[in-house]
Amino acid sequence: MHVVVIGAGVVGASIAAGLAQRGAQVTVVERDWPGAGTSATSFAWINSNGKEPQSYFELNAAGLRAHHQLAGGASPWFVPNGHLEYATAPEHVDRLRGRMGRLVERGYPVQELTHQKAAALEPDLVIPADCDTIAFFPGEAHVFPSLYLAQALARAVDAGATVRPRTEVTALEPAGSGARVTLDDGTVLHADAVVSAAGRWSAQLGRLAGVHVPMAEFTDPGDVTVGYLMETGPLPVRVERLITSPRLNVRPDGGGRLLLQALDLDVTADPAVVPAVASELADAVLERLRGVLRNAEAADVRRLVVGQRVMPADGYTVVGRAPDAEWLYVVATHSGVTLAPLLGERVAAELFGQDEPLFADFRLERFLAGTAVTPPVPRRPGEQ
Ligand SMILES: Cc1cc2nc3c(=O)[nH]c(=O)nc-3n(C[C@H](O)[C@H](O)[C@H](O)COP(=O)(O)OP(=O)(O)OC[C@H]3O[C@@H](n4cnc5c(N)ncnc54)[C@H](O)[C@@H]3O)c2cc1C
Repeated sequence: MHVVVIGAGVVGASIAAGLAQRGAQVTVVERDWPGAGTSATSFAWINSNGKEPQSYFELNAAGLRAHHQLAGGASPWFVPNGHLEYATAPEHVDRLRGRMGRLVERGYPVQELTHQKAAALEPDLVIPADCDTIAFFPGEAHVFPSLYLAQALARAVDAGATVRPRTEVTALEPAGSGARVTLDDGTVLHADAVVSAAGRWSAQLGRLAGVHVPMAEFTDPGDVTVGYLMETGPLPVRVERLITSPRLNVRPDGGGRLLLQALDLDVTADPAVVPAVASELADAVLERLRGVLRNAEAADVRRLVVGQRVMPADGYTVVGRAPDAEWLYVVATHSGVTLAPLLGERVAAELFGQDEPLFADFRLERFLAGTAVTPPVPRRPGEQ
């Protein structure tokens, strides 16, 4: 079976690896360089925390397990140190406690920490003395997306896949029981199946095949498709795990650098107007950082990006064959880093004929049912 995988982000690379390891002949076509899309701008928190409804929780929980299984403990790309969250405002405390209760009922690892235990885990974290709700989610993790991508591509190539960077798919047509894939250099590939893992370009890619893939597109600053991320220079700060605090999310980014996210400040995010690393926005976020971590006084922002999400129109993952073009398998998800190893394994299994029950609620067909699509809204701190 020859499969063309379109897109070499974390999702496409994982699927290419899964297919090649099952014995498929795989060609990965990437318009840019591997990882140049949304995978380059991700907080990369691996979790099923606050993912509703139940089927989306189960999908993401399986994604989290698949990461642990693939990494087999700490690895260059995987940091299985958990996630610590604390809440101070009464509404946030209520939401956090409610979420902890629901997760416990579902068997998801949750611990409530005392200040002393939190300080033992994260000695440089400043938690206000009057804060009485500190949650620890020990099964959660974070990933370094470039390093994840490197191992996924290596697995694919070691199993015989070919990767064609700087090459765009410009036409897709059915041919026999498979497809004809035309590339921008004029090459025509014949495939038994095509996987679209084109990220936020999934709607355009679908149009090439005459398939409707409803995706939320950027319209206004701060809408659900966009969010800032800021990376500091190296700091003498002890932080080993992902932390979500009321005004700032922080995680280690390698070599003493920290990755910062302040969801309420995303209201101005616009891919066409990216603030400088020395800007009011960066100053505001750094001020928050100094309030959250000791020894961060010298922090500066070295990289500031506006990330653009891969957001299907209703906010949920799309995974499955296109209804009127069985040769095309479409994957698009905003939980792409969490789900990548799971998708790599199970999408490959589906292309080899198995049916994956975890995907049942996430087929493209749901958009054909005529039911109104509720667009997702931006999440703000603690709103999970
Ligand atoms: C600010 C932010 C924070 C996030 N935080 C998290 C998080 O904490 N946890 C989490 O799990 N996820 C998170 N995400 C989401 C996650 O990063 C994405 O879901 C994931 O990176 C998507 O990967 P992908 O491979 O589907 O897409 P991409 O990485 O965008 O890859 C798609 C690729 O397809 C290529 N392509 C498109 N069209 C064509 C064509 N015609 N021909 C050839 N190639 C083509 C593109 O060049 C691109 O490289 C976050 C996203 C953002 C923006």
